[in-house]
Formats: sequence, structure tokens, C-alpha cells
Amino acid sequence: MSLKWAKRIEELPPYLFAEIDAKINEMISRGVDVIDLGIGDPDIPTPSNIINALKEAAEVPKNHRYPSYAGMFEFREAVSNWYRERFGVNVDPQSEVVTLIGSKEGIAHTPLAFVDPGDIVLVPDPGYPVYSVATTFAGGLPYSMPLLKMNNFLPDLESIPEYVCRRAKLMFLNYPNNPTSSVTDIDFFKSVVEFANKYDIIVCHDAAYTEVAYDGLNPPSFLQVDGAADIGIEFHSLSKTFNMTGWRIGFAVGNKKAISGLGKIKTNIDSGVFQAVQCAGIEALRHYSVGMAERRMIYQERRDIFCNGLREVGLDYFPPKATFYVWFDTPRGVSSKDFTSRLLSDAGIVVTPGNGFGKYGEGFIRVSITVNTERLKEAVERLKGFKF
Ligand code: PLP
Repeated sequence: MSLKWAKRIEELPPYLFAEIDAKINEMISRGVDVIDLGIGDPDIPTPSNIINALKEAAEVPKNHRYPSYAGMFEFREAVSNWYRERFGVNVDPQSEVVTLIGSKEGIAHTPLAFVDPGDIVLVPDPGYPVYSVATTFAGGLPYSMPLLKMNNFLPDLESIPEYVCRRAKLMFLNYPNNPTSSVTDIDFFKSVVEFANKYDIIVCHDAAYTEVAYDGLNPPSFLQVDGAADIGIEFHSLSKTFNMTGWRIGFAVGNKKAISGLGKIKTNIDSGVFQAVQCAGIEALRHYSVGMAERRMIYQERRDIFCNGLREVGLDYFPPKATFYVWFDTPRGVSSKDFTSRLLSDAGIVVTPGNGFGKYGEGFIRVSITVNTERLKEAVERLKGFKF
């Protein structure tokens, strides 16, 4: 038998990072001290009150059984209370919240619930790659909304052709944004609700980074806009907020019918989140503000170190108000891939080429400031000595 992959994975775009990965491994095996600013994975441990809640819950036999599909009611209630406190938005824990095995899982399953083959899905470019890959898996057609620097990396909804708007079924948005770090406000979300109502488009707002923000900023929820819950849902993650990337827990909130649609897909594919992890999630959300200011300060200090370094070497960057990413321009005429590759071989620094997030990311580099200040200072020193 000649084993063949299905077209949907056969036709996936080539894995841009494969070449870099091979190079990293080769350099590490030669004993090079590589500084990894590539992956957006917090280096700071999960707060101890959350770990203790997991330990306790892991001892309870009823938590060893299959969890409920939609998630424990107590977890969804904690989500609802957090939403009210943080955003002033009321959501019904019974019908407007679903627990996810990390927000990536929910995002990846969303097109299966709403997109028929041939439907258009509006995706940000550059953007988190899961939006377009999941769309393709569902037989949909991703349509890039360019995020341009001159628009503060917000999509220009007016420039989307009328025929595309009419065929579009769903739109993904993400603010604070990965990879650009751009933030937005309620006025932009209002224009999105208007647009979505006009063309009957479901809006899926990925809010994974609302809690990683600087200089006293508290980025808004899409659901703060009147009428948003009539047309959309919002994804949240405990990963970045509480340094819990390995735990796999997140949630989606919003329109009842959309939440139940996503729930239907999940019921047929997975069996929910380990209840002990949900108990830890309840602890995290109930004591949400414990340590939050300190966590934000850690990233803010790192942001300043790295951005000052970029300024010193004369590289143009987009000043981050949120997320733990810094998005900067490559020197004129240098491609994202060449810059990434040279930075690794000549300075031992791993970064992510902007075109890995879509063609409008070409000419940019994303750095993740998820290493401690010593390492970041060392990276800045190496950058100063790097000739490009
Ligand atoms: N959305 C964005 C924009 C992300 O950057 C990530 C992770 O990097 C996720 C969603 C997924 O997060 P998780 O599945 O850990 O909740």
C-alpha cells in the first residue's frame, strides 16, 4: 500500500520554521549559546495558588472521570463573574460560555461549526496561522485582510470588495494582536459590529492577550459593544494571562447559537478539560488580580530593554502597548527570512520572520520577550555587534 496523506494536509503551506529549527539544533550541538526569542511561551512559572488548587483537585476521585462537555458549571460561572468584573459585560454561564482545551482548540474547531465548503472567511494578515489553516480544513476560503503599519495594523474594512463581503461567513480578529502587538478601542469594534450586521458575518474575536498590557492600559473586550453578542463570540486563554500555556485551558464567550454550535463540534471530537485543571482555572479567575500588576511589570521592563536596544541600533519598531511581542522592520531591502537566518548564524539569536504570519508580514520580524532581563540584555548587546 502506498500511504497517502489527505489533500488537506498535503496542501498545507511549507513549514517555514523547519529550516530555522534545523539550524538551531545544529548550532546548539556545536555548543553555541543560542538565545531563543522565537516562541511566545511565558518563562515565568504559574502562580502557586493555582498550582495548589490543581494539587488538591487532583486528589478528588470525581475529578478523575470524564468532565462535562461544555465545562464544569463552576468554571463557567467563574468566567461569567470575571467578565462582569473585568469588562462590565454580563454573560450567562449556562448558555453563553464554553470551556476549551486552550483557545487554539476552540479557534481551530470554529470553522467546522460555521463554514461550508466555498464560504469565505476573513482573516488578518499577518495573523495567528490557525485562523487560515482551520478555515482550509473546513473547506472554506481564507481571504486576507492586510494589517498595515499605516493603519496601526487594523484591517481596513472599507477596502474589502463587496463580492467578498457578500460571500464571507466569518471573520477572525485579534486585539491585542499577535504578531504586531497592536491594540484597538471600542470605536473600531463598533465599526466591526456594523460591518458584520450589514453582511451577516459571524465575528470571532481572539482576545488571548487582553491581560498582557502596559502603562496602565486595560484593552477592551469585543463584547463591550452593544449588539456584539448578536453576531459574535470571543476567545480567551488562561495561557498568557496566568502563565499556563502547558495546562491547556481557555474559553469562548458570546452568542448563544454560536457557542452551542462550537459545543456540538466539540461534543463529537473531544471530551473536555480535566476537571482538576478547571478547578485550578476557577482559582485563577477568582483571584485574577493577585500578582497581575507584577506580571505586567516584568514584561514592561523587558519591553523597554529590547525597544531601547532597537532604537540604539536604528531599527524601526512598532511600540508595544500590549502582548509580549515586539514587531520591528528589517533593514531596508533585507527580507524577513534573510534577516532571521543571518541573526541566528552571526549572533545566535532566534527570532520569527514576519512572513511566517502571512505575506503582509514580509519585511518584519517578531521577537518574543519571554526570556529574563539578563538574556534580553545579552541579546541587545549581540544585536549591537551584528552587521546587517
Ligand atoms: N491566539 C493567539 C493570537 C495566540 O498567539 C495563541 C498562542 O500563541 C493562541 C490563540 C492559543 O493559545 P492557547 O491555545 O494556549 O490558549
